Amino acid sequence: MRYISTRGNAAPQAFCDILLGGLAPDGGLYLPEIYPQITRAELDAWRQLSYADLAYEILSKFITDIPAVDLKALVAKTYTAQVYCHTRNGGDAAQITPLTKLEDGLYTQELSNGPTLAFKDMAMQLLGNLFEYVLDKRGEAINILGATSGDTGSAAEYAMRGKHNVKVFMLSPDGKMSAFQRAQMYSLQDENIFNIAVTGMFDDAQDIVKAVSNDAAFKAKNKIGAVNSINWARVAAQIVYYFQGYFLATQSNDEQVAFTVPSGNFGNICAGHIARQMGLPIARLVLATNENDVLDEFFRTGVYRPRTSVETSVTSSPSMDISKASNFERFVFDLVGRDPAVVRELWAKVDKGEAFDLSATAHWAKMPQFAFVSGKSTHNDRIKTIRFAQGRYNVMLDTHTADGLKVALENRLPGVPMVVLETAQPAKFEETIREALGTEPVRPADLKGIENLPQRVVVMAPDVTAIKQFVVDHL
Ligand SMILES: *Cc1c(COP(=O)(O)O)cnc(C)c1O
Repeated sequence: MRYISTRGNAAPQAFCDILLGGLAPDGGLYLPEIYPQITRAELDAWRQLSYADLAYEILSKFITDIPAVDLKALVAKTYTAQVYCHTRNGGDAAQITPLTKLEDGLYTQELSNGPTLAFKDMAMQLLGNLFEYVLDKRGEAINILGATSGDTGSAAEYAMRGKHNVKVFMLSPDGKMSAFQRAQMYSLQDENIFNIAVTGMFDDAQDIVKAVSNDAAFKAKNKIGAVNSINWARVAAQIVYYFQGYFLATQSNDEQVAFTVPSGNFGNICAGHIARQMGLPIARLVLATNENDVLDEFFRTGVYRPRTSVETSVTSSPSMDISKASNFERFVFDLVGRDPAVVRELWAKVDKGEAFDLSATAHWAKMPQFAFVSGKSTHNDRIKTIRFAQGRYNVMLDTHTADGLKVALENRLPGVPMVVLETAQPAKFEETIREALGTEPVRPADLKGIENLPQRVVVMAPDVTAIKQFVVDHL
């Protein structure tokens, strides 16, 4: 399997060659040159498999440059009940992403049972093992520099902790994260993990990462890399749980299923789109946004209008607070018949902060065949839905999953099971749970008192030169 750029001006690459990088050299995103098609016989055989074996079957179609025995071992080491142990609602950890039944035909799928209680662990844990494997093979090293306001940074640190040839330098805004989030990240004592609390806002931290990223000489000399949401391996890993969700929500492979996905950067639902293109019987993909509704607007109107940071709200489902959706270009590439010239033309606008409008085009007329619908949820909807799920189903939802359930209930199809992807646990969003329910969310036993553990963090001013020096001093 080779990978091509959505903008068409980059040489096709093998999986391991795009694993450690970000964008293609032409500014596009990598996608497989074709989507492997799943036969009915495969689907029948896969229904019986464990999560790890299912992951191997699916990933081996996309990863053809790692020997089968090695890929099998990597996947088996990643998807274990020990790593994804934080089940709630009686879910079976051995299933890795078990369903919680809310009522007949309505489920949540637990994607947040990993070490950081958010769905980013599903892909990031595999990425950590893939990085270590490929770097060992090649005798190379990577130093990951990132900025986080919470979820992504902690998922990256837990995935990379203790890995050979990998160091992580993670910038976070000093004093701006919850005590639980700080404890999650800063209590890691692994020597290859460096937490830098920057005395500023998240944007200041992100600006430093951008400045370093623009310094090509520094990057090359110090082997600086990133683990951002456009990484193809992350999307590929996420395809697996759509198959697992289908098998758990249906009795036979004659049935169809629908998924609702709380969305921000379009990474999660992009994997659902690819699962459907491979032949998984998905009747409908429901995209849910919060107040930052750039994607809901597109799927309703055909207009994609990236927002400025001033137009981007800080909400109580913060992991969906995006101004533009970094993975969306992958879907548009498919929508326009995989014509890179069209993508180049559209993103010439997006990259200048301008909107594009497909509503009057032949491309838009093809939307129905992709089976997307969308909806939006606000803070009030979120609070109401958390109360509703607790009262009606005795299930406590986090704020992102509540956005999902709100939009799912508006978009069910008769006779088709609806699976709402649960992207985080309520324990991560105590303040909103208190507001909605007047109680504290349940926290997994092994994370109780995590705030009292010793922390390992340095506080630094948002000064690019000083932070570059810190990195160099710790290589
Ligand atoms: C990252 C994240 C999302 C959004 O996922 P995308 O892949 O960016 O669409 C939703 N919920 C939670 C809890 C997240 O951490």
